[in-house]
Amino acid sequence: MEQKITCKFGGSSLANADQLEKVRSIVEDDPARRYIIVSAPGRDENDSDKVTDHLLNIATEGIHFQEQQKGISPKQSYDSVVAKFTRLINGCGIEGGDLLSDLKNDLNAGGDPDTRIDFLASRGEHYHAKLISRYFQHKGMHARIMLPEDIGLVVSDDFSNAGVLPQSYDNLKKLADLDGIIVIPGFYGITERGDTAVFSRGGSDLTGGEVAYAINADVYENWTDTDGVYQADPNLVSEARVIPRLTYKEIRLLSSKGFDVFHFDAMINCKKRNIPINIRNTNNPSAPGTLIVSERVPEETAVGIARLDDVAYIYLEKDGLGEVIGATKDVLDILKEHSVRTYHYPTDKDDLAVLVDQNDLISNANIIRDEIEQALKPDVLEIIYNLSILSPVGIGMKHNPGILAQAAATLMDENISIEIVDQGPGQISFHFGIQSYYADSALRSLYRSLIANGAPRI
Ligand code: ASP
Repeated sequence: MEQKITCKFGGSSLANADQLEKVRSIVEDDPARRYIIVSAPGRDENDSDKVTDHLLNIATEGIHFQEQQKGISPKQSYDSVVAKFTRLINGCGIEGGDLLSDLKNDLNAGGDPDTRIDFLASRGEHYHAKLISRYFQHKGMHARIMLPEDIGLVVSDDFSNAGVLPQSYDNLKKLADLDGIIVIPGFYGITERGDTAVFSRGGSDLTGGEVAYAINADVYENWTDTDGVYQADPNLVSEARVIPRLTYKEIRLLSSKGFDVFHFDAMINCKKRNIPINIRNTNNPSAPGTLIVSERVPEETAVGIARLDDVAYIYLEKDGLGEVIGATKDVLDILKEHSVRTYHYPTDKDDLAVLVDQNDLISNANIIRDEIEQALKPDVLEIIYNLSILSPVGIGMKHNPGILAQAAATLMDENISIEIVDQGPGQISFHFGIQSYYADSALRSLYRSLIANGAPRI
């Protein structure tokens, strides 16, 4: 049977006309690459902000950039978006006056304030897909545009965080009957009422995953600007290499700083159908990238080390706490009430701790403290800030005793104290909480000990 590849190209892959040409030649290179999902244009040498951010700035009357302490007015954003599309059209040498005037009309349109933000946010993908399919045609390729409204990509009306509704899959499946190259804008769908709603940020990955699932693609290629998923943050560990194969479970455990190359939700349906996801680099197409699969035979113990910063530790101690049924639940309920993200829950007989995202405590640490005091009357209640969690991950660790001991010994040699240890129940990851101050050097040491020198034990 004919191979079917779904490709998603991210904003950085599509930031200017030179990039678009790279994308075109990647698509041309393999006739199976027929389902092309595109993001809005990313940052380029003329503009350090993404088109989607400018669109959100227009939609929110400037609040979007104010929140990021950037002094860019809606008018400047409007001009930037128009200038960007003008540069792309001119750089590609295509006729695009109609696209520019439609774009301007959309940007100037009023509309219901409840739905206008998502409509505007989606315009980057919408017009970029039109431009790209036109560019492909201009270069003699048999390409067509298919918009979410044409193909029936129906989504929930959770604006800015829409979800794909089940009826979409039968609609998307029909894409497999079309010939030629099909260019689809990522990031948005249409609600049952006909409004435009976008997914969460980075959501073009999700469109790609859903199309791959619906047409039962052989591979979902996700083209970005890095050679793949690295063993550790390459900005800190210069020797870190790209991991050739990872399971869905491993990439999920690794997704953190230095690993956030892919929108998690995009994986869920691909996993159900065992569709491999290949993270590739548009700027280095000969590199094989990282392949995410359901199963692999590990040749190593730890495959990568994730890192999470800005973690706080809420610690309480009380004589007899171990006998209080539901004490952990009481603490977690309070945290949930205040929308605090929680990560790990180390406990002992009469002590209990919860590791949380410290950014979520900024405005409400005192209230949370009071509420925990009231609910549990602990003898000790402390909040300790500025921890980092380092997490070696790898399915090869499960059947190899001693990795945790080796990691602990490595940190002992560096005189780094481990504040918290937690082993994942699947035994394919464990987590060390340490003072953030030591995190860079601890990451490098763990990398050397567990990965660079980690003799394969399988
Ligand atoms: N353009 C959207 C964003 O910047 C979606 C995407 O690129 O995946 O979040």
